[in-house]
Amino acid sequence: MRSREIRLKSRPEGEPAPENFEMAEAEVPSPGPGEVQVRNRWMSVDPYMRGRMVDRPSYVPPFQLGQALEGGAVGEVTASAAEGFAPGDRVLSMLGWREAFTAPAKALTKLDTHGLPEQAFLGAAGMPGLTAWVGLLKIAEAREGDTVFVSAAAGAVGSVACQIAKNKGCTVIGSAGGPEKLEFLRELGIDHGIDYQAEPDLAAALARVAPRGIDVYFDNVGGDHLEAALTAARPHARFAICGAISQYNDREAPPGPRNLQLIIGKRLRLQGFIVSDHMADTPQFLRELAGWVRSGKLKWRETVDEGIESAPGAFTKLFTGENIGKMLIKLA
Ligand code: NDP
Repeated sequence: MRSREIRLKSRPEGEPAPENFEMAEAEVPSPGPGEVQVRNRWMSVDPYMRGRMVDRPSYVPPFQLGQALEGGAVGEVTASAAEGFAPGDRVLSMLGWREAFTAPAKALTKLDTHGLPEQAFLGAAGMPGLTAWVGLLKIAEAREGDTVFVSAAAGAVGSVACQIAKNKGCTVIGSAGGPEKLEFLRELGIDHGIDYQAEPDLAAALARVAPRGIDVYFDNVGGDHLEAALTAARPHARFAICGAISQYNDREAPPGPRNLQLIIGKRLRLQGFIVSDHMADTPQFLRELAGWVRSGKLKWRETVDEGIESAPGAFTKLFTGENIGKMLIKLA
């Protein structure tokens, strides 16, 4: 079997561009003992991949030039020489950005979809959903009565974080770019949406919708959003620092929030986290998620591009804000 794959051709400087990627073909061998051959059906496109395109020490090693990228994927087993895997099984792996592959069984998780669409395990029921749950409930310790601010609120992580906060009895403010995203936030039932493109003075916007301030900030954006959240924070507010997408393409170190000293007087707690440290929470997260989905209290949207060749373009959409909800690639 042959498989097309997307390789990193050069490391992006600033915004990622089509010339940073190249398509190539590779042979997919028949599985040897303990191995499984898989045809990918859905690929995940995630902002953290931008960090792996930079050659620097991090919590996860950088992508290598000339090698296929890696990312979350749901596929179908086409041949198996491993116990417990049979053709037709659906599997989750980190071997996306290619149409097919052969890998040791330990690189795969067999999916029991519990009636959910399989691609949900790359979004609300997968890594982004777990990120929202961990960040909001374990890191920021959001509780009933809190006023919670979520940035990139119409995205994969943010839209789930907003709904979990609502389900836990919080008042929820979400920021996103543009009227279509604001409409989506209204559909999710959050209390206040801020279109940061129409209202760039975020501190003023937060003061308007939350005059008593915020107790929790779920940060996906960094920069101006973090600065505004520091201004809006009530004493003892907790910040889950999840991402800083406004800065991932910066060529130079960005200016810091100018008001960091507020952390002291307000006794704030800011904590970064990486979801892969919390995989053991998956069963508890999925139990809670299943209840919310059954009772109509958790919904999600997907932006789906088709074909492996669309992956680099889909990746750039994360930085131009062209995705609503989870950005996915559907493979033929
Ligand atoms: P999203 O689905 O939220 O897509 C990214 C969104 O970010 C865009 O749609 C856009 O929305 C917004 N955005 C892009 N550039 C800017 C900017 N300059 N200013 C403000 N908003 C911007 O992606 P995910 O849900 O997958 O990820 C959200 C965040 O969570 C990212 O920062 C990611 O790195 C982080 N993350 C962290 C994890 C962890 O373990 N700590 C795990 C998973 C994700 P808009 O149009 O509203 O601007």
